[in-house]
Amino acid sequence: MQVLTDERLTLDRFMRDVRRRSPGEEEFHQAVTEVAEKVIPFINDHPEYLENRILTRLTEPDRVIMFRVCWEDDDGHVRMNRGYRVQFNNSIGPYKGGLRFDPSVNLSVLKFLAFEQVFKNSLTTLPMGGGKGGSDFNPKGKSDAEVMRFCQAFMTELSRHIGAHVDVPAGDIGVGAREVGFLFGQYKRLQNEFTGVLTGKGLTYGGSLIRPEATGYGSVYFAREMLATRGEDLEGKTCVISGAGNVAQYTAEKLIDLGARVVALSDRQGTVHDSDGLTPAKLNYVMELKNKRRGTLREFADEFGLNFFEGARPWGITCDCAFPSATQNELDGDDARTLLDNGCILVSEGANMPSTPEAVELFEESGILYGPGKAANAGGVAISGLEMTQNSMRISWSREEVDRRLQGIMRSIHEQCEEYGGTEQGGVNYVKGANIGGFVKVAESMVAQGVV
Ligand code: NDP
Repeated sequence: MQVLTDERLTLDRFMRDVRRRSPGEEEFHQAVTEVAEKVIPFINDHPEYLENRILTRLTEPDRVIMFRVCWEDDDGHVRMNRGYRVQFNNSIGPYKGGLRFDPSVNLSVLKFLAFEQVFKNSLTTLPMGGGKGGSDFNPKGKSDAEVMRFCQAFMTELSRHIGAHVDVPAGDIGVGAREVGFLFGQYKRLQNEFTGVLTGKGLTYGGSLIRPEATGYGSVYFAREMLATRGEDLEGKTCVISGAGNVAQYTAEKLIDLGARVVALSDRQGTVHDSDGLTPAKLNYVMELKNKRRGTLREFADEFGLNFFEGARPWGITCDCAFPSATQNELDGDDARTLLDNGCILVSEGANMPSTPEAVELFEESGILYGPGKAANAGGVAISGLEMTQNSMRISWSREEVDRRLQGIMRSIHEQCEEYGGTEQGGVNYVKGANIGGFVKVAESMVAQGVV
């Protein structure tokens, strides 16, 4: 039976309703459960949120656009994929969130990502709503020309639904500088206008300095804020990173810069272990390998005589700090127990929802510094927001200026977590803090804007 009131919400009853409305969408249920668990007690103390059924409305996207994408491969064969854009909530600004091109993309994954994005964007303090999109297209093994034809076909439909004041996509897994360039080119051709309709653009055509670095740097800045609450810093800390893509690369760069020792990276093939710690020269090799030659970390391990563990995740390598920066549910309960047993004191999530619910519970119980993705990886979208500002003003800020603003935003996100997530023991529950902190601004705006 449909629930017609949000009076005195309980998690069980609420999640039953979510599952009824969106059957089979497991990743989406997981993301909503994590938020609902933390915000329901807060909502029960605020009658205006109950009367306005804010949480129910906030778990239903404004709209979902799904479309066929047809393109031709280099052999002249017709290929078909499915494209999506989930416009989740625009209460505090235009929809904003990345595009993911990966065979694992489906509606559940994109709804979870778009839902998370609503809270994350709110935490940045910038006026951005939440959205996400993408396709089950796999860019791996495709030529540049094939990727371009796919991007053009994808944008031909997407262009009807986005705009600088409507919905501003960016990159995510499988969508980097190359794809954003092709997508922007096609939008410009179709709409005959040069606007900030995508972020993560190249520097020569409206991109912001520090945007490629922002998610990784931001995750490290957030880790630094968390450590500071215990009078510690990153210097000399042993760090393990999963992934070897955009977020992982710049997490490694900033950690090295701050004197930490990065001993592992991973990709879909396995984990590379470098007990001496990555140097800037080795990291440059990884960047060239992944961004230009699109190779695997096995080649990196072979080149530098490092151990490569086929098919393994990096969580078995002893570390002080862990930075999951690859994909969702890549760190489970067993991985969390291993990390904790090995003395890990901090987890900062560069990826979205990389830890399973069991892992999150273990981190929370253990009292380690655990920064969930919607807080720790918000630096990327924050600088996308600043790219939109610069595009509107038709100016470019310097590297130092953008980096200064990024550090300020990560500090402010940390402060919001402290405000809403303070514990009786004097610590901070960052999951609670980020969820309630992100919720409040959106909920207030929804109440103010009436039943729409
Ligand atoms: P990239 O495509 O640049 O890199 C992803 C990396 O993760 C690659 O090294 C890839 O391996 C690895 N990976 C992907 N899927 C799997 C898998 N199923 N198992 C093992 N390894 C995997 O993506 P990003 O770095 O941009 O994104 C990484 C994460 O960060 C995602 O969760 C994304 O949503 C999140 N994020 C990204 C932001 C951004 O600004 N880019 C902003 C906020 C969050 P391989 O090299 O073999 O392909």
